[in-house]
Amino acid sequence: MKKSRIFSGARPTGRQHIGNYLGALQNWVKLQDEYDCIYCIVDIHALTSLEDTGNLQKNIREMILDWLAVGLDPKKSILFVQSHVPEVMELHTLLSMITPLSWLLRVPTFKDKIKLQPENVNYGLVGYPVLMTSDIVLYKATVVPVGEDQLPHLELAREITRRFNGLFGYTFPEPNGKLTNYPLIIGLDGKDKMSKQAGNDIELAMTEEETIKKIKTAYTDPARRYRSDPGHPDKCNVYKLMGYFESTGGNGIAEKCRKAEIGCVDCKMILAEVINKALRPIRQRRDELATDPRYIDEVLADGADRARVIARKTLTEVKKNMRLI
Ligand code: SF4
Repeated sequence: MKKSRIFSGARPTGRQHIGNYLGALQNWVKLQDEYDCIYCIVDIHALTSLEDTGNLQKNIREMILDWLAVGLDPKKSILFVQSHVPEVMELHTLLSMITPLSWLLRVPTFKDKIKLQPENVNYGLVGYPVLMTSDIVLYKATVVPVGEDQLPHLELAREITRRFNGLFGYTFPEPNGKLTNYPLIIGLDGKDKMSKQAGNDIELAMTEEETIKKIKTAYTDPARRYRSDPGHPDKCNVYKLMGYFESTGGNGIAEKCRKAEIGCVDCKMILAEVINKALRPIRQRRDELATDPRYIDEVLADGADRARVIARKTLTEVKKNMRLI
C-alpha cells in the first residue's frame, strides 16, 4: 500500500538542542517507517528575519549532521535544503496571485513578527504562509506534523489549496495536520522555552564536560534556598528534564528531594549523567559523520535531486491547469 506523504521543515538554526530533539526530531525519526517523509531545512523562510547570512551554510551543515546523528535516514526519507529546489519559489509566486492579502494580514504570527522586528517588516514576511503552503503542496504532502499553535498556519494552507483547486481544477490534495503532543521543553533558566537565543539550551553536540558545566547553571525549585529545605520536584525543571530521558519514578529522587536528603548540586550531576548517557550514541555517530564532509554534500544533493523530480512534475501540472503552458 502506498504510504501517505509527510512534509516538515525547520529553519537552519545550526546545532540542534535537546528541545529540538525531544520536541520534533525524535518524532520525525519514528514517522519514517510509517510515512513517505520529506524533511527540509527551510533556508528561504529564514531570510524573512535573518539579515546577516554569514553563518547560513555552516548552520545548515551543523543541522544536517544532527539530523543524521539522531537517526533520520536518507535512504528512508528525503532530506534537503529548500533553496536547492527553486521550483518552490516559482510556485510561491503563482500561489501568491490567488491568495487574498487580507488572509495573510490576519495571521497571528505575522502580527507577532511585526512587534518582534519592527525595523524589518519585509514583503517576504507577509507571504510566509504562502511559501509554507508551497513547500507542502509542491510535494503533494497530505500530512503535516503540527503542534496546536501551528494549526492556524495549516488552516490557511488548506484554504489556499481549496481556492487554487476551485479556480483551476483539482491539483493539490488538502494537507491535514497530524497533531503531535510536542512537549514544550523549558530551558535551563526554568522559565522560557529552550532556545539558542535564550542561551538556556543543551546542544546535542556538546561534549560531556560542556554538558555538565551547562547543567550546573540550571535553575531548580525556587523555594529551596538551603540544602536542608525540603524541595518540590514537581516545580523543578531539572527533575522535569530528567523525566524526558529516563523514568524518574524508579530513581527515588522525588522522595529524597521532598525529604531534603539530596542536594540540588548532586541532583544536577545525576541529570548531567542521564543526559550524557542518552546522547552518547548520538554524539558518537555525529563525530563519525563529521569526519566525512563529502557524505553530507551527497546526502543533500541526493535529497534535492529526489525532491526536484516531484517538484517539477507538480509545477508542470500547476502551469498546465493555470493555462500558462
Ligand atoms: Fe530539583 Fe533535584 Fe533540587 Fe529537588 S533536589 S529541587 S528535584 S534539583
